[in-house]
Amino acid sequence: MLNERPHLFGVSREELRELSGGWAMPAFRADQVLEWVYRKGQADPQAMTNLPAADRERLVRELGFLTGKPVRHQIATDGTQKLLIEWDAPAPAPAPGSGEAGARALPVMNTGAAQTECVMIPVDDAKKLRRTACISSQVGCAVGCRFCASGIGGLADDLSAGRIVEQVWRLERLAGVGRITNVVFMGMGEPLSNFGAVTKAVSILTAEWGMAISGRRITISTVGLPAQIRRLADLALPVTLAISLHAPNDVLRRELIPWADYVTIEQLLDAGRYYFAKTGREVTLEYILLGRVNDQAAHARELARVARTLRSNVNLIRYNEVPGLPYRRPAKENVLDFQKVLRAAGVNAHIRASRGRDIAAACGQLRRETAASPS
Ligand code: SF4
Repeated sequence: MLNERPHLFGVSREELRELSGGWAMPAFRADQVLEWVYRKGQADPQAMTNLPAADRERLVRELGFLTGKPVRHQIATDGTQKLLIEWDAPAPAPAPGSGEAGARALPVMNTGAAQTECVMIPVDDAKKLRRTACISSQVGCAVGCRFCASGIGGLADDLSAGRIVEQVWRLERLAGVGRITNVVFMGMGEPLSNFGAVTKAVSILTAEWGMAISGRRITISTVGLPAQIRRLADLALPVTLAISLHAPNDVLRRELIPWADYVTIEQLLDAGRYYFAKTGREVTLEYILLGRVNDQAAHARELARVARTLRSNVNLIRYNEVPGLPYRRPAKENVLDFQKVLRAAGVNAHIRASRGRDIAAACGQLRRETAASPS
């Protein structure tokens, strides 16, 4: 069946060698295909001109290549670009032995289509040239943070490893973008609840034969699954872990994040300490500043006490409004004051620049575009 084909972007080199060997292709054929896809940017097997016609046709029959269709492309005034991708349904099968959940039909939601958004954020200045891909790991999100557009409408499905990698590949091929240097799993979804697909995708994003992006430039952001944080630490992938705290105490956190009913801040921090002990990598604490909700000096002092209990840095994000949701963007001075309190307490705190606000591509604004409007 067509939809049981493995997805090229979700298979490792070894898996592709094994598959192509089973199709009676020579051993080097897999490397040629990967060279076309990842180095030459060609994902149409029929255009792989150094392959025999019979092998090209076999590849078309056996593998899924591009499985998503960009249905909207927007460019913000600051150069940020956003793609809304509609995925074929059902999802392609995982690679053999990949550890991903098996192929399954995308549940039919109120949208009738599986769509996700991903964003390319350029940073050019004298010292650095970065192209960051902010990608989705799920269609929708089950966490339902009260301030976020992505959780509106709940979770429809996980994205496969192939679909996660395909987002980065597509962003890299937008006109004028060039090499993607950084990847953040901060789009739609809770990455650690799609653990197998996300970690498989990281292995392909970092592989020399794949996207060849340094693991140090990949960030996995989680709202908090301590057991999965430990599992990630044990895998020793060279990635940065970001814990989305958003509140300095459990009472306020439960008001903002429904999943906080099940996990305390201390449990999260303990998992963060484990992550540092296993990987030697400092943990980033993400804190979205909501006007008059969690942005007062008392919150900053409380957050400083929390942050000092592990090797961490704090990333402050000024809230980007979502139509229909009650939260407000804090004044710039409040954000600077909040940072000052943290720094005075010895906490390494940065303010993340808001990018792509005019096309709703900023943090917390991504959504399944055809989902029901927030009420
Ligand atoms: Fe999900 Fe992240 Fe949005 Fe929370 S902030 S609803 S975890 S996508």
